[in-house]
Amino acid sequence: MLEPNVIPRFEPRLRVGIVLPQDDQQEIQIEFPNDSSYIMKVDDAMVNTQPGAQIVIRIAEKGISIDNSPFTNAEKIVFKHIRGDHGIAIHPVISGRNFHWKKYIMVHLPAKVEVTRYQDTLLVVNELDLETYLACVATSEMGSACPLALIEAQTIVARSWMLANVEQKHLSLDIDVCNDDCCQRYQGLNNITDYSLEGAKKTRGKVLLYNGKIADARYSKACGGITERYENIWFGDPLPYMQNLKDMPNPENPPDLTIEENARKWILDNPKAFCSEAYVPAKDLKNYLGSVDEEGKYFRWTIMMTNKELTENINEKLGLQLKAVKDIYPIKRGGSGRMILMGINVIDEHGNEKIFKIKSDYEARRILHKKFLYSSAIIIDKKNTLNDIPQEFIFHGAGWGHGAGMCQIGALGMALAGYSTEEILTHYYPGTELVSIYK
Ligand SMILES: [Zn+2]
Ligand SMILES: [Zn+2]
Repeated sequence: MLEPNVIPRFEPRLRVGIVLPQDDQQEIQIEFPNDSSYIMKVDDAMVNTQPGAQIVIRIAEKGISIDNSPFTNAEKIVFKHIRGDHGIAIHPVISGRNFHWKKYIMVHLPAKVEVTRYQDTLLVVNELDLETYLACVATSEMGSACPLALIEAQTIVARSWMLANVEQKHLSLDIDVCNDDCCQRYQGLNNITDYSLEGAKKTRGKVLLYNGKIADARYSKACGGITERYENIWFGDPLPYMQNLKDMPNPENPPDLTIEENARKWILDNPKAFCSEAYVPAKDLKNYLGSVDEEGKYFRWTIMMTNKELTENINEKLGLQLKAVKDIYPIKRGGSGRMILMGINVIDEHGNEKIFKIKSDYEARRILHKKFLYSSAIIIDKKNTLNDIPQEFIFHGAGWGHGAGMCQIGALGMALAGYSTEEILTHYYPGTELVSIYK
């Protein structure tokens, strides 16, 4: 486990949650690799494993059991890698928990894997060295065909974020991070390549520092042309290295999108940002993005929803029984155009008019779409208004994700245009320095 507020002098070990209690999983299948060896420890008993064998672990009356074995009430089952290059295969594992791309995948996990019980569900934890984890994360996040400068930048950002260790969202489970977008997306050895290992090796121990502290380096998929300020997304104190900047060769003095007129103009326009098609053509994006995100447009997009669909989405997410939505509008935008405070006028189940205020970018994205809206940097047009109720809402959007810190598709655009790792990092986190903290 990482220690809070400590800059490590040696490579730390990490505990990554793979199956969490919220996944409500009662069984898991494990397959041993053909050409690598593992030992299995069931409580205190050491058990040899057969290459290629499959086992199923499930919740038992007490503890956990392994099907067709004498182990029916174990507390903890541990798998430890002994030799070979392959990890144990674990299935099913959720990717994209709570997001619109959610699916079940198989992951291959290196080093040590621990299966225990947490109340009535399984808890699976992968314990491994930070640098191995980072080599896996860089490619899980971006796809293995990415240019090396991007993989290096992504690895340094992931390492900094991890070691800044500000969030600690899962401390109660005794893990440092989970395997998904809530922390950083980790799919074990699934997408690891010689190239991503090289990226980790070349940047080993390197982090971004600001004022002697490891920078809390956040990132998102696509800013939409201007990055968002830290405090507009997480409500903490402002961070000097996470401000509004144009995702372009001259990042200073972006237009002020807190002014509605400017936001409309920017979002409906198609500026030549690093994350736009001017640098990353949409048809090429598939080659670079991780395999779970092969969706179409991200820089500028349009979604149409009927009033009924939109009302249903909001009702489902907020547990309400509204009859219709009358209006949705920004009350306060951040400098990237994202909604920090959004107003919704509705007709409630008794036919009365009500006003809701949605108080964050995250919540706005969560409630407007069945799964998740790409971004809250949106212009909303109302169509076919009957008795003061628009029958359709058209969302014109910019970007994908919260937009603060490094814009991953923009960093890809920079790398493709020949910018170096340092140039990418200085662009997105101005004022930070790149330092090696362990060998
Ligand atoms: Zn998490
Ligand atoms: Zn961008």
